[in-house]
Amino acid sequence: MTDLSVPNSSTSLVQPTPPDIGEPEAADLARELFGLEVRARALGSHQDRNFLLHGLPGQPRVLLKIANPSTSEAELVAQSLAAGHLAEREPTLRVPRTRPGLNGALVSAFTLQGQTLHARVLDFIDGDPLSGSGYLTPAAVRGIGTMAGRVARAFADFEIGGVERPHQWDLRRAPDVLAALAPEVADGALRAELERAAAAAWSLLAPLADTLPVQVVHGDLTDDNVVAPPAPPGTVRVPDGVIDFGDLNRSWAISEIAVTLSSLLHHAGGSVPTVLPALVEYHAVRPVSRSEAEALWPLVVLRAAVLVASAHQVLAANPENDYAAANLVHEKAIFERAVELPAAVATAAVLDALEMPRARPGLPSFRPLVPALTEGVTVLDLSATSPALHEGRWARPEIELELAAEAVRSGAAATITRYAEPRLTRSATHSSAEPANSALGVMATFAVSQDVLAPWSGILRVEPGTDSEPGTVGMTLIGEGVRLQLRGRFGSAASPSDAGERSVQAGDVLARAVSRLEVRAGRDGEDVVPEFTTAALARAWTAISLDPTALLFGSQVSAYPEPNPGAGARDLLERRHRSFANAQEYYYAEPPVMVRGWKEHLVDADGRIYLDMLNNVTSIGHAHPRLVQAVTEQLSLLNTNSRFNYPAVVDLAERLTDLLPAGLDSVFLVNSGTEAVDLALRISRAWSGRREVLAVREAYHGWSDLTDSVSTSIADNPGALTTRPSWVHTVDAPNSYRGRYRGVEAARYAEDALAVVRALTETGTPVGTFIAEAYYGNAGGMALPEGYLGTVVAAVRAAGGLYVADEVQVGYGRLGEWFWGFEQQGVTPDIVAVAKAMGNGYPLGAVITTAEIAEQYRSQGYFFSSAGGSPVSSVVGRTVLDVIRDERLQQNASLIGGYLKARLIQLADRHPLIGAVHGNGFYLGVEFVRDRETLEPAAEETLAICERLRELGVIMQPTSDRQCVLKIKPPMCLTRESADFFVRALDEVLDTGW
Ligand code: PMP
Repeated sequence: MTDLSVPNSSTSLVQPTPPDIGEPEAADLARELFGLEVRARALGSHQDRNFLLHGLPGQPRVLLKIANPSTSEAELVAQSLAAGHLAEREPTLRVPRTRPGLNGALVSAFTLQGQTLHARVLDFIDGDPLSGSGYLTPAAVRGIGTMAGRVARAFADFEIGGVERPHQWDLRRAPDVLAALAPEVADGALRAELERAAAAAWSLLAPLADTLPVQVVHGDLTDDNVVAPPAPPGTVRVPDGVIDFGDLNRSWAISEIAVTLSSLLHHAGGSVPTVLPALVEYHAVRPVSRSEAEALWPLVVLRAAVLVASAHQVLAANPENDYAAANLVHEKAIFERAVELPAAVATAAVLDALEMPRARPGLPSFRPLVPALTEGVTVLDLSATSPALHEGRWARPEIELELAAEAVRSGAAATITRYAEPRLTRSATHSSAEPANSALGVMATFAVSQDVLAPWSGILRVEPGTDSEPGTVGMTLIGEGVRLQLRGRFGSAASPSDAGERSVQAGDVLARAVSRLEVRAGRDGEDVVPEFTTAALARAWTAISLDPTALLFGSQVSAYPEPNPGAGARDLLERRHRSFANAQEYYYAEPPVMVRGWKEHLVDADGRIYLDMLNNVTSIGHAHPRLVQAVTEQLSLLNTNSRFNYPAVVDLAERLTDLLPAGLDSVFLVNSGTEAVDLALRISRAWSGRREVLAVREAYHGWSDLTDSVSTSIADNPGALTTRPSWVHTVDAPNSYRGRYRGVEAARYAEDALAVVRALTETGTPVGTFIAEAYYGNAGGMALPEGYLGTVVAAVRAAGGLYVADEVQVGYGRLGEWFWGFEQQGVTPDIVAVAKAMGNGYPLGAVITTAEIAEQYRSQGYFFSSAGGSPVSSVVGRTVLDVIRDERLQQNASLIGGYLKARLIQLADRHPLIGAVHGNGFYLGVEFVRDRETLEPAAEETLAICERLRELGVIMQPTSDRQCVLKIKPPMCLTRESADFFVRALDEVLDTGW
């Protein structure tokens, strides 16, 4: 058995105070002991005195460390040797090696005021620790887990003296340490809670203690003691350096990662599910045994309790210690999150993360609760894909009862919900937290009130209904090792009156005439199972929560498939990788499975509701009922091709020409933006007979041969600029924020373009087509410089060419003030290409030009597209335009878009990362820069911010060639509340990190 006796001096279990040495004395010591002529700057430390030495010509910076007198020379030597060993075993980890002193030894002794002290000089590990309570990316969490695994692996066979010492951080001694420290915790409630949690954790740990391997451990491998390489502010931090071997010790090997995990818990969003990926990475490097896995969470709890108690002790000894006071806030948060879940549930989450099998409690033998009902049970589908939850009938628990009543009206004898199903009815819009929507029980309703009988013998406790729900009664039946919680609603006066406790036999009537019954079952002796948990935790809760479905009606209703959060998304991604060509990328490192949409919201398979700030294609909102109905009706009537004569195609063509300036009166219907631009270019060529195209850089126009030829965005094709055909001539992207000409100078972009037009004429290859987005969309969402299109288009026309306006992204009302982007520039194009918003996600595109230009296309033969302008496509196009008009979506873009832009500009006051807010209406771009002077693009940050926004419930992606602009293009039905939620989420990310 591990020796847990109190070491000889209990003072060694408490934190000593550091020796008193100033910066000048430190510089003197560096000279005298190490021969270094340097300046010294004091750094913070818990127990030692640390000084950064600088001024060493041509050499990296080093650290002078004067140890606490309670640390022996042998321990210091051991720490130095351990760091050296780790550096050798793991050469890609950055580890502070010790530099010998003038005496040739790793540790140099000196005397101060009669006291012998020890000094060492170590490599300074440059970079930033993951300190503070800011958000840690999944990459950083995994990175620190990998590091813990590498350290544990390196020390597995490292034997050295000087580390076997009574140490307050050795979790093998946690009970003694807590006994010594707890009296320092003045707050009695907190003290009791620490003692209770620690005792419970220890009781789980003690039986495993003998099976846990012991080895040298770093002992404090926390967020504070791992360092990410120096990087520009805001860059995603993945640690690669380990510092501070001051707690080097022998202890349980698994305590290394327990310490690491606990240190992650206090960060923004830290919780059992978010820190466990670190363990998974640790396990991949240094496999965890079964008993280590079972010991892990109790160790996390013990570590947390010791941290809190120790901080109180330090503060009691030195109330002025601000460092300790600040730390206590984090340490309390660690403790609270460590004990948030019952121990059995936390350990189940650990075992599941490590893919270790575990026992699952089942129901004892029972008699059905409602034996009179043998058939006619309807299972309510409350999932994210439930057909009963169309049209935003979500996020309200009352819907469950409405659906149950509807089922009964349709003849069901009873209804029942599914165990552990993530219910869309329990989700929330505009919430940045994962919804606690997975029911750990079931609810049944009965067409005719039913008697409820005891499924087994036991003790019954009856509690009358609460005021908020009169007519209900709560009952708890404890028997057969199960705590059964029942809540019944009584349709008549037959509610049981006898509150209190009594013993019942299997088959006894528990309650009469119940019209609704909620049932939860949990292992007796464990924490009470809550009604709901998050989808991420539903599986872990099955460690103590039992599926009560069978109890109701025997085997009539099968349970919902066992919850396995994330697995669905991962499996799907793997299948996608196997079958879907790779060049078709996907959003997000860990993409949720999207199954539903409504207005400006998207819903994943776990019923989480996201705010969709990205989908400009969905112009009128997801799943618009008018569109659904119009398409359904037309599909059931007729769908064929436009060589037939039917009204819808004519209606749509007329509607489009009505929206455009006079003269643009000939419509071609196609199926996408690429097709529209491709056709527009071919029409233009046919008209001018010329191949030469003038195109604006940083633009995207499509994927076909022709549209790709004129696409110059390196974000879409890194080789774009070097692979353009000879007939494509590009001009500078007219970016007035960060381009060659800024502010008032931006007028010069047009002059430069004119020079290219002129040169082409002079060389005998005059321009045939000028193509440009009418508003600078793909490149970040800004208006073109004033007058730009007017000047360039006039020159192109004078040279005998045409202007093709690519309105695929920016047109159709999104800009608010203008329906078309070209209106903003005061020009009328010769040819307009439109798509995306036109079909609200249905494949639909159009080219509109003058009759004269359209007629020239005859030289190419006749034009036909099988599905372009089909009855269904045309109905889609017509309905989208109807909705944009009837719901005043362009006006909404102007009003709410303007409001949103103003709020985003306000954010820029507090967050220097925001360089600019571009755009109009619902085409906005928030551009992130590392420096407002140099405008260095913050691309990595932008991607990471989008990932974090997704965690907070917002769908957003980067855009522009520099990928440093948030592409804000929501469905045009966006509400003010949604705009506010987006701003709040972005503010939170910029505040707490990404
Ligand atoms: N033009 C522009 C400006 C676009 O943004 C896009 C698509 N991103 C296209 C054309 C091509 O449209 P589609 O994806 O419908 O082919």
